[in-house]
Amino acid sequence: MTLKGKIAIVTGAAGGIGYGIARKYVAEGARVAIADLKADAAEAAAKELTTMGPGEAIGIAMDVTNEDQVNAGVAAVVAKWGGVDVLVSNAGIQIVHKIEEFPFADWKKMLAIHLDGAFLTTKACIPHMKAKGGGAIIYMGSVHSKEASPLKAAYVTAKHGLLGLARAVAKEGGAYGVRSNVICPGFVRTPLVEKQIPEQAKTLGISEDEVVKRVMLGQTVDGEFTTIEDVAEVAAFFAGFETNALTGQSVIVSHGWHIE
Ligand code: NAD
Repeated sequence: MTLKGKIAIVTGAAGGIGYGIARKYVAEGARVAIADLKADAAEAAAKELTTMGPGEAIGIAMDVTNEDQVNAGVAAVVAKWGGVDVLVSNAGIQIVHKIEEFPFADWKKMLAIHLDGAFLTTKACIPHMKAKGGGAIIYMGSVHSKEASPLKAAYVTAKHGLLGLARAVAKEGGAYGVRSNVICPGFVRTPLVEKQIPEQAKTLGISEDEVVKRVMLGQTVDGEFTTIEDVAEVAAFFAGFETNALTGQSVIVSHGWHIE
């Protein structure tokens, strides 16, 4: 089980969890395309990781909701390195509102980034994986793929949807060695979560400390955040697993917030 020489595309990898996964993959010797809306940050992250080695990285400007940009980005990776072995569909955002106040435009934006993004990148990568005799597709789900929380209707809907996509890809991909799995992290302290703390405090009428202790970590076994490194470890495991024995599954990494 090694990532040495593997070619990976990680979306939303200019920062946060995606960057942590790209870092882990490069540390294990993989070649990683950091595909992100933020082109400059993707370039900077790629330079940093290439300097770190032993693998290497490139930055790719990509809005995962834009089919042309997704196809061009995947084509650029294939032109440079000759294929794609691993896709991590990770790009995501969070928007919180009560359902009756949820702007329709925000609902559509949420579903587009999480679901259209996962679909378009999957669609673009599968032919290249088939051509090489297989590959690993990893979707960044969430405990919200299994649970619901107030104010997160669009996020919960999108993250549940990824389980369905992963299962369908597993069934269709099996004959070609294309595996598909979902990682479901609990709260990880990234910009996506930092932004929510004051927003939720305001909407719920509680303190920021209560949002962290009660809303975010109240149901964990130890009151701890999941770390970027925890998630990257699981992403490396899924990427390196070489057979169809492990496909169509989801793994929850959440300090026991959700247990099944
Ligand atoms: P983050 O905000 O730190 O990073 C997200 C990255 O995605 C950014 O670099 C951003 O530029 C990029 N991005 C946003 N929209 C994009 C688009 N349309 N096309 C390409 N790139 C785009 O967020 P994070 O916390 O690292 O989250 C990464 C993933 O993990 C998301 O799918 C999120 O839902 C999921 N997740 C996060 C947590 C958490 O607690 N942080 C928990 C469970 C799941």
